[in-house]
Amino acid sequence: MAKAYEIIRHTYDAVVVGAGGAGLRAALGLAEKGLKTACLTKVFPTRSHTVAAQGGISAALGNMGEDDWRWHMYDTVKGSDWLGDQDAIEYMCREAIPAVIELEHYGVPFSRTENGKIYQRPFGGMTTRFGEGTAQRTCAAADKTGHAILHTLYQQSLKHEVEFFVEYITLDLIMDEGVCRGVLAWRLEDGSLHLFRSHMVILATGGYGRTYFSCTAAHTTTGDGNGMVLRAGLPLQDMEFVQFHPTGIYGAGCLISEGVRGEGGYLTNSEGERFMERYAPHAKDLASRDVVSRAITMEIRAGRGCGPDKDYIHLNIQHVDPAIIDERLPGIAETAKIFAGVDCRKEPMPVLPTVHYNMGGIPTNYRCEVVTLKDGNPETVVPGLMAIGEAACVSVHGANRLGSNSLLDLVVFGRAAGIRCAELIKSGQPHKPLAESAWEAQLDRFDRLRHAKGTLKTAEIRLAMQKTMQNHASVFRTGEVLREGVEQLAQVMATFPDVKVEDHSLVWNTDLAETLELDNLLGQAMVTIAGALNREESRGGHAREDFPERDDEQWLKHSLLWLDADNKVAIGYRPVHLYTLTDEVAVIPPKKRVY
Ligand SMILES: Cc1cc2nc3c(=O)[nH]c(=O)nc-3n(C[C@H](O)[C@H](O)[C@H](O)COP(=O)(O)OP(=O)(O)OC[C@H]3O[C@@H](n4cnc5c(N)ncnc54)[C@H](O)[C@@H]3O)c2cc1C
Repeated sequence: MAKAYEIIRHTYDAVVVGAGGAGLRAALGLAEKGLKTACLTKVFPTRSHTVAAQGGISAALGNMGEDDWRWHMYDTVKGSDWLGDQDAIEYMCREAIPAVIELEHYGVPFSRTENGKIYQRPFGGMTTRFGEGTAQRTCAAADKTGHAILHTLYQQSLKHEVEFFVEYITLDLIMDEGVCRGVLAWRLEDGSLHLFRSHMVILATGGYGRTYFSCTAAHTTTGDGNGMVLRAGLPLQDMEFVQFHPTGIYGAGCLISEGVRGEGGYLTNSEGERFMERYAPHAKDLASRDVVSRAITMEIRAGRGCGPDKDYIHLNIQHVDPAIIDERLPGIAETAKIFAGVDCRKEPMPVLPTVHYNMGGIPTNYRCEVVTLKDGNPETVVPGLMAIGEAACVSVHGANRLGSNSLLDLVVFGRAAGIRCAELIKSGQPHKPLAESAWEAQLDRFDRLRHAKGTLKTAEIRLAMQKTMQNHASVFRTGEVLREGVEQLAQVMATFPDVKVEDHSLVWNTDLAETLELDNLLGQAMVTIAGALNREESRGGHAREDFPERDDEQWLKHSLLWLDADNKVAIGYRPVHLYTLTDEVAVIPPKKRVY
């Protein structure tokens, strides 16, 4: 069957999969260094989720008060709840300064101070003098920083002649004796299949928020690169660490800012009770994100959720003067109207804790090379393969990411990927011949899904997975609930062979595209929930009710999670790098619990 497809072949020095902030920064750097570079993307580059980032990008420029990259490093290690790799964090915080100045020179229209420097705002967890003061470290282009960065990087990539392959869905990695030799991709516009040979494949495919029912990320954030890595028999790292925001719109998941509660908004359950008074008598509705998220989840689990399925909570702001809403929260009022169909001046908004960021992903070293545990060596490099951005787990965010450190991660490691490739690859060097059998299994999978004639719709299976993850691997976890979730998810995965794809064509077949994405999501959902069941401690974004303490004796280590063909998860570990690259800053030992 697979032989029936004609394959169009391409040869490049490097192939970048993904055109968000990470992918574009890498592609630009590679092209600048004279390497022949292709950038494949399933959506138009400037539609990548990076475009939605508002707050800003951190760098210790010191434009608006004293600052030092060492303080930034300290905050990031602490924020990671000590699970971050300190060599990579040192690299990121030090390189932040040249990387952001470079963005400025590329043309990012940053907001300015009165004397013309890049404007910087304070952000949560960002301090001066190792926790003493508040740092103004987050560089911003108004409230559209991601938009500004993405557009500038796209323009620069065009200028440097990166070759874009837009609306090409990458299906799988081509592996040969443990080395990545390229990727197989499907072009939506004309249905053709393409083989891209390259000396380096750089996965920059973003997060996998869509494994959950409610997430703030775009519908296309399905972690396709992570899915490819699992199918290639390689592990993902620290997938149990998922960051939640307490108030996303029910169903749509769009973010409703903390500003609503700041202006006097409050949460109620189906009995109309202001339940936060019970969970946090002092801070009430303005308790920290994880506390509010956990309280909402507990109310829903206790049967006090609102709506026909009792699966959301009400956020009320109807008591506030409409003039104040129009003045201070116009965007929120619009979001509630469009995505929940409610007028928040008159009725409550349905909300739910919502997945916001994935700390876990493809394990790499600080040079962006993908690593795995092999023959007892946890730093074994997988030749020909790199990962950057939210898809990667470098790990600079450890168990919890600080706001504005993700945009930074994208540009610093996007840039580092180009630097490392220039060391490893000579432009035009020949490619090793490959037997056609190298991509047979990948093509067979594509063909099997294209002709899937089962009884279940893709959307039905996807919804079952998303509800399982939302209810069983949420902000608040116990062994019992997670175990039930693993069993339930195994049943959902067992139904996937019975999926039905109604459209068998190859041109713009969104039915097939969504089924391919679901295949990727299912594997990631399973390793996430299995990883969460396995980690018997609370750290960062992973809060276990039955193990409320951080346990450095047992758990100061990264989880590695493999998925076999029967959907069984195998677990291994990598040590956390508690050492730095230089001796300019002391190694910070994991002492006491910090959240
Ligand atoms: C609403 C929101 C606000 C945020 N605000 C901030 C903020 O203020 N500051 C901050 O630091 N962080 C913020 N974040 C986090 C940050 O924006 C993301 O982590 C980051 O943008 C991810 O970038 P990326 O380049 O890794 O991936 P993305 O921007 O998600 O891009 C993924 C790319 O991969 C491509 N792709 C995926 N699968 C395939 C495939 N199979 N074949 C081909 N191409 C594929 C897509 O087409 C896309 O181009 C925010 C996130 C959200 C959701």
